[in-house]
Amino acid sequence: MERKLIIAANWKMNKGPAETAEFIESFLPGSEELSERCDIIIAPPFVSLPAAASLLADSVVALSAQNVSDQDEGAFTGEVATCMLNEVGVQYVILGHSERRAIYGESDQFINAKVRKALTADLHPIFCIGETLEERESGKLEDVLRTQMSGGLADLTVEHMSDVVVAYEPVWAIGTGVTATPDQAQEAHAFVRTLLEEQFGAEVAGATRIQYGGSVKAGNSAELMAQVDIDGALVGGASLEAGSFRDLIANAVA
Ligand code: PEP
Repeated sequence: MERKLIIAANWKMNKGPAETAEFIESFLPGSEELSERCDIIIAPPFVSLPAAASLLADSVVALSAQNVSDQDEGAFTGEVATCMLNEVGVQYVILGHSERRAIYGESDQFINAKVRKALTADLHPIFCIGETLEERESGKLEDVLRTQMSGGLADLTVEHMSDVVVAYEPVWAIGTGVTATPDQAQEAHAFVRTLLEEQFGAEVAGATRIQYGGSVKAGNSAELMAQVDIDGALVGGASLEAGSFRDLIANAVA
């Protein structure tokens, strides 16, 4: 099954509206050619989404939020609802990122509520999973991934899954400069695909795009993307500068 690459920039808590505009103006030239072989997504902080949306309006680059509420509206201080993201023109939302899990205590059940809420609002979840170093070293990798997948994607249908992107991000590789080797990443991705098959059947397993995340950069994107079960990347640090993000994508599609 042919799966188009999908590479997303997760800016985390970086770049207000002015820096966002500066990045996009510098990144857009040349992006059309890259987008023939790779879907490209940028995920700025909430306050920068309107500026990004207007600059990306006629472009090939899609817009993502980094989080969304599991509630529709009301007394939820500090939260942002799916309808607000719709109004701004957001198409994707990153959910279950390890920083949300570890720093803000988001559980599989809570993440699942957000995934389901996003899907009802026609937002595509980029659903993140991944193990800590301690979990990997104590032989718990498969158990952790199985629990995160079954919990986070609970009650989803086969139809829902055509809107979901999975991001496998080993926690020990995020922001550390330590990347999983292509073999390590491929092995985990193949396992995630078997979990998709168990949960949703062979067709969904074959069609779902699984991104790798964890210190992806221009220097390693080609060998990671060459792995049969790696269909893209979720990129933090190397996505903050337009030139390095462009090189990372160009090497991935070469
Ligand atoms: C991430 O935050 O999802 C990530 C993979 O970060 P980095 O590329 O900096 O490791």
